[in-house]
Amino acid sequence: MSNDANPFESLQEQIGDAAAHLDVDEGVIERLQNPERILETNLTVELDDGSLETVRAYRSQFNGDRGPYKGGIRYHPGVTRDEVKALSGWMAYKCAIVDIPYGGGKGGISIDPAQYSETELERITRAFATELRPIIGEDRDIPAPDVNTGQREMNWIKDTYETLENTTAPGVITGKAIDSGGSEGRVEATGRSTMLAARDIFDWIGKEMVGASVAVQGYGNAGWITADLLEDLGATVVAVSDSSGGIHDPRGLDAKDVKEHKNDTGSVVGYGETTEITNEDLLTLDVDLLVPAALENAIDAELAEDVQADVISEAANGPLTPGADEVLADRDVWVVPDILANAGGVTVSYFEWVQNRQRFSWSERKVNEELEQVMSDAFDALIDAYEEHDLPNLRTAAYVVALKRVVDAYEQAGNWP
Ligand code: NAD
Repeated sequence: MSNDANPFESLQEQIGDAAAHLDVDEGVIERLQNPERILETNLTVELDDGSLETVRAYRSQFNGDRGPYKGGIRYHPGVTRDEVKALSGWMAYKCAIVDIPYGGGKGGISIDPAQYSETELERITRAFATELRPIIGEDRDIPAPDVNTGQREMNWIKDTYETLENTTAPGVITGKAIDSGGSEGRVEATGRSTMLAARDIFDWIGKEMVGASVAVQGYGNAGWITADLLEDLGATVVAVSDSSGGIHDPRGLDAKDVKEHKNDTGSVVGYGETTEITNEDLLTLDVDLLVPAALENAIDAELAEDVQADVISEAANGPLTPGADEVLADRDVWVVPDILANAGGVTVSYFEWVQNRQRFSWSERKVNEELEQVMSDAFDALIDAYEEHDLPNLRTAAYVVALKRVVDAYEQAGNWP
């Protein structure tokens, strides 16, 4: 990544910027800039060769004023206490802007999962689930997938929890496989909302999506689905990347073909007749739409000066530093912020939880229709706030809407004890 800004400080700055436009007690803002509690734990697991290894894991419960804590679990060597705190805060405000009844949470283990076998990953995951058990639950804290975790890890966590609790509680975790209580449309949901956010902003600024050129940084779950769905809208995906590098073809790529190539070879690099580019090249391409879908701090203030995209729809959490936001707003680049653009993941997680609680399942069509409605209502709320308060950018507008909702819930409950 091009910048090592502390993501937790970025979150606090974003909340502070929004608070300046609301009439809220400073003590309340301070509370809403910090997590309620954090679990930091060391998991000692047996490796396949019989040796023992200890890994560091975290769970941050940011805010429970609007409902149970909710947020993903990430496996990545870059996981730190501050990163998890930031991600848990972004979750709280994300749930608020799409108006689903959750607070924010996030967890992570500081490992490179590629270095472990499947059986080792299962032992690590079950050890973490055992540590999490007292603080998670269908009405307490509901984890979900994030970078380098997916249905497999969610199924292990659900099974560990249910076995230890001697119950069935599929709603303790979301992002499960369908046969384990998952929801139709969940795997695609983050990419779908990123696409919907891009479509809504294009409509609002009067820009045509058919024929629009798109670059996607990070070709994992969120990135590749966004690319695929944007192609369905008539856009042309001209460049994509992953941690091994990027590829560019101004005539357009085939999103599904590139994904197959990545599945077969482990990277997008080497696909077809494309030119190899760096991630920095990709982020500064002259495209209509840029989708950062990798990790935090992909674009800092310096790189933002070179960004040539007209619109950015953030699939990743925290891909722009606050400095980049300022530069891009000055340069009239429209940014649909992460807490709205990638909120499809948590929204369909919420639908999954609702289905689990009702022991009932919805069709994929119903899931997608409900998601589209939630996204469109949230986009309208954001634009209303942007215009009403004359705000510098859409991110501040998103935080103004979200913060107001969290503050209202907090004040209605009252400060106790
Ligand atoms: P993933 O593990 O499926 O994919 C991540 C991709 O990013 C991989 O292709 C990886 O190679 C690539 N990558 C990593 N470092 C990179 C770098 N420096 N440059 C370019 N590419 C790089 O993860 P994901 O679930 O798609 O998550 C991606 C982002 O979306 C994260 O910020 C995550 O928090 C966010 N997000 C995910 C979900 C979800 O439901 N999966 C929901 C909301 C937000």
